[in-house]
Amino acid sequence: MQQLTDSFNRQITYLRVSVTDHCNYRCHYCRDEDHISSTARADLLSYEEMTKIVQLFSQLGITKVRLTGGEPLLRKDILSLATQLGNIPTITDLPLSTNAHLLAPLAQQLKQAGINRANISIDSLKPEKFAQITRGGQLSNVIQGIDAAIASGMSPIKLNMVVMRNVNDDEIEAMIDFAISRNIDIRFIETMPIGSAGVDTIDHHYSEADILNRIRAHLPNQLSPIKAKQTSGPAKSYLITNTHSSVGTISAVSNNFCADCNRIRLTAKGQLILCLGQENSISLRDAIRSNMNDNAIKIMIINAITHKPKQHEFNTNMGNINHVQMVEIGG
Ligand code: SAM
Repeated sequence: MQQLTDSFNRQITYLRVSVTDHCNYRCHYCRDEDHISSTARADLLSYEEMTKIVQLFSQLGITKVRLTGGEPLLRKDILSLATQLGNIPTITDLPLSTNAHLLAPLAQQLKQAGINRANISIDSLKPEKFAQITRGGQLSNVIQGIDAAIASGMSPIKLNMVVMRNVNDDEIEAMIDFAISRNIDIRFIETMPIGSAGVDTIDHHYSEADILNRIRAHLPNQLSPIKAKQTSGPAKSYLITNTHSSVGTISAVSNNFCADCNRIRLTAKGQLILCLGQENSISLRDAIRSNMNDNAIKIMIINAITHKPKQHEFNTNMGNINHVQMVEIGG
């Protein structure tokens, strides 16, 4: 099998597929209040086109594909896409990122289709605060979604909380206890300056060092570090002794983990994005629709990967950040 290697000798094995740029939530840090996802249906990749593109990537060494969005469960008949991707034998890891608002009735079937695990965003355990951060989200639906995901057998289930100073930073301990009570994992995410909504949230930035101090104070002598290789991602994670949970941080601003980056992104419109922090992209939708043959498209992908930037510039060059809203890229 061919491999995708960029010009910094990083092997690319992980593709994040944004299946829609629509979301039923409007989290403050993710999209502007008046942002509208206006992509015409004809401009979106069909499920057949997404599957075709994932198949080509799988022939180039991609083994992990995450379904994200927008909110992936909003797209009609998402089970059909999950099934098509679940049937590609060389895709051995097929996780989902979701806000879980619509997850409860779908979790079991998604698991059967091949979604083996899920990351679930949840930024508050207080219904009013939750509605405020998400601009209208319903906490009870999300908790039902989490419980349905657990019952479906997806594993691991990781909760993702974006920590914001003076917004929800008072809930770090409660969120850890909630994760422990359900035997699932929790990751605390630093806000990233992506798109105008992300940049506007920078005043609420809560650093990884501060998050870790809070975790250590809450769980004294209970943290056992998980080796970076085992986490296969940018999280710094710890097992919580005498529980079935782990806790961690994802800190793209405090830490630059780009040297180990193994990921690329496909948007719902078929743009291949090489780095979350920068706007370089090429259209795989146009390639697919112009009837290029498979080998020519794979060569196009291999060439594109050589332009993957060395690193994002969140912490060094705020003038060179991605201006696309996070909801359109897929996190
Ligand atoms: N709707 C799905 C969800 O809620 O997980 C998938 C898409 S969402 C864009 C993916 C992740 O990106 C979520 O965990 C969200 O909290 C995170 N996110 C969005 N904007 C962010 C920002 N400016 N900084 C840090 N994380 C962000």
